[in-house]
Amino acid sequence: MEKDIKFFTNGKRIDGRAIDELRNIKIEVGVFKRADGSSYIEWGGNKIYCAVYGPREAYPRFLQKSDRAILKCRYNMASFAVEERKRPGPSRRGVEIGKVTQGALEPALILENFPKCMVEVNIEVIQADAGTRCAGITAASVALANAGIPMKELVPACAAGKVEDKIVLDLCKEEDNYGQADLPLALLPRKNEFSLLQMDGDLTEDQLEEAIELGRKGCLQVYEIQKEALKKKYITGDVF
Ligand code: ADP
Repeated sequence: MEKDIKFFTNGKRIDGRAIDELRNIKIEVGVFKRADGSSYIEWGGNKIYCAVYGPREAYPRFLQKSDRAILKCRYNMASFAVEERKRPGPSRRGVEIGKVTQGALEPALILENFPKCMVEVNIEVIQADAGTRCAGITAASVALANAGIPMKELVPACAAGKVEDKIVLDLCKEEDNYGQADLPLALLPRKNEFSLLQMDGDLTEDQLEEAIELGRKGCLQVYEIQKEALKKKYITGDVF
């Protein structure tokens, strides 16, 4: 829904960014003692923890697959994560985001090595400020690497969108709420394929192409930040 908001001033966006600029992103690896792998991401105003458990025996047992591990992804937003208190507990939105997160991450994992097992990804949004599914996928992928789950590659994610008929990268809260379109993407950088592509709003065919290309470039920048975070972890060797 569009609102009477001035999205651009002297070519800069509401938060001072250029149209192709990401918000600040900071990733920490290995933040929980009890999880097999974990991460913390700050992405603009988003603050998100991710804890990975497994591979371990899948339960309930009827979920087990004889030829590979299953991947379970749970997304939860704290009731204090948004301006007006969110109702705690499961929500349709949370279930949807858990499902698309699983779809985004699964093609990057080698689950065939662990029959009858499960790998569990828990994403906890402590503060939400637009783009939490992309930030969650980005953090989860790093936490999976930290857990030592065999992977073909990392999965960076990032949204593009449209405000005032301009294609912009990584929507902020006002752009997400009152802009014309939102296009969250997750990329498999080596394959150069998307494992998540959702769209909310209206884009012409040309705008869609432009948004996908801008989002792809954003994902590649996020990919560099993921790699740096992992290198930092393993080069300094901090262990909890
Ligand atoms: P994403 O966080 O992936 O962009 P949405 O498009 O569903 O997912 O949500 C956009 C933003 O709207 C969220 O990041 C959050 O800041 C806000 N939001 C989501 N759900 C709620 C809610 N129940 N109450 C208040 N704000 C919310």
